[in-house]
Amino acid sequence: MTEKLAISGGTPVLQRSDYKNWPIITDDDRRLINEVLDSGIMAGGTAPQVSALEKEWAEYTGAKHCLTTTSGTAALHMALAAVDVGPGDEVITSAFTFLASASCALHQNAIPVFVDIDARTYNMDPAKLEAAINERTKVIIPVHIQGLPADMDPIMEIARKHNLYLIEDACQAHGATYKGKKVGTIGDLGTFSLNNFKNLCGGEGGLYITDSEVYLNKGMLIRCFGDEIDEVSHRRQYNASILGYMYRNQELPAALTRAQLLHLDEYNEVRIANADYLSAELGKIPGVIPPYCPPECKHVYFMYNVRFDPQAAGVDCEPRRFRIAVEKALYKEGLLAGQWQTMPVPAQDIFQQKLGYGGSSYPWVVNEAKGIRYDYRVDDYPVAQDLCDTYTVLHGIHAPNGLELMGKFVEAFHKVFSNLGQALDHADDEIYPGPDGALYGAG
Ligand SMILES: *Cc1c(COP(=O)(O)O)cnc(C)c1O
Repeated sequence: MTEKLAISGGTPVLQRSDYKNWPIITDDDRRLINEVLDSGIMAGGTAPQVSALEKEWAEYTGAKHCLTTTSGTAALHMALAAVDVGPGDEVITSAFTFLASASCALHQNAIPVFVDIDARTYNMDPAKLEAAINERTKVIIPVHIQGLPADMDPIMEIARKHNLYLIEDACQAHGATYKGKKVGTIGDLGTFSLNNFKNLCGGEGGLYITDSEVYLNKGMLIRCFGDEIDEVSHRRQYNASILGYMYRNQELPAALTRAQLLHLDEYNEVRIANADYLSAELGKIPGVIPPYCPPECKHVYFMYNVRFDPQAAGVDCEPRRFRIAVEKALYKEGLLAGQWQTMPVPAQDIFQQKLGYGGSSYPWVVNEAKGIRYDYRVDDYPVAQDLCDTYTVLHGIHAPNGLELMGKFVEAFHKVFSNLGQALDHADDEIYPGPDGALYGAG
């Protein structure tokens, strides 16, 4: 069926008003925010909302202990500091993730090392992990990417064999499970983000969980300047015993997070229902590759990813160019499609040019002075590179958006895939696909 695509002047399938924004604000948010205002307590390490959130998140995940903090990045940094990572240590993470999974190592004067991903799950490939380990390796940070748990059993086994710490970056995977266990509780420590994009939103904020009392106590010190608290008087001693930071959260974000947590499972189920529907429908279109979820995992679809394969679509086109053409055509149909990471993390300038403290190549020089080289060759991450060439994110699968909107996504896909010639003719048009800022707060 020939039809004029919106990119060639036809009528778009979707309107922006078909989308509802994230997060969803209910009376629960108003009630708990009002509790804070009525209490007059705005902050404090043991303030009521902060303490309640820590208790509730520990209960929700099944962890023994939880600390709330200013961001997911802060939680990752606290976790590395808690296991005594320092200059010259290497920290392994996935090549396809958000920068913070790696820059947290730099913040602790350690050196990030990347492992390529699995082609189906987009998570760290355990088969490639051992080759990245050496006598300097101290920590592995698997990332549960886009809401899908990493393959934790083989990663845990390798971590144990080499006596390494395991810190889970669960910043995108609140409520996801691996073999029935909530992510964040499998390794030594788990970290979550509460920024306004994430499945659990506090505006900004982070959560740090562990079963270890040692990491709990150390985390508390690191979160607050390293200042010791007197055990008897419970007063701050203003005597730092460890290098700490100022990573305390506050009552308003903690209250908002608690209210949002009341709905987390319900909202995750909406994401899953939307994703399952899309995968079933889009999977029927030759050239569209929906995300894969292994049977032992519960995926919570922080992001819904699709990949494109020109050969399967019957088109003679280079894969990256094909993705760009399809992405632009879908975007012009009103679908808020667009890439998240555009390159593997090690391809970013900060790693290519080793841009460390004060513009120097510290901390890499710590080891380079001993003759160790860090090249971050992009060719070492071919699967992550291939993913970045061929994927796009379909934004807006979060609640309260439902199957009606998803039906329109599918309609837009059918329209574009029935008229790929038109899409390819416009591959070089100046169009910048992606969500508008308002979908997740402010741009
Ligand atoms: C969001 C995110 C972070 C950082 O969280 P912030 O709260 O934004 O600091 C870390 N890792 C991953 C994988 C993330 O998606």
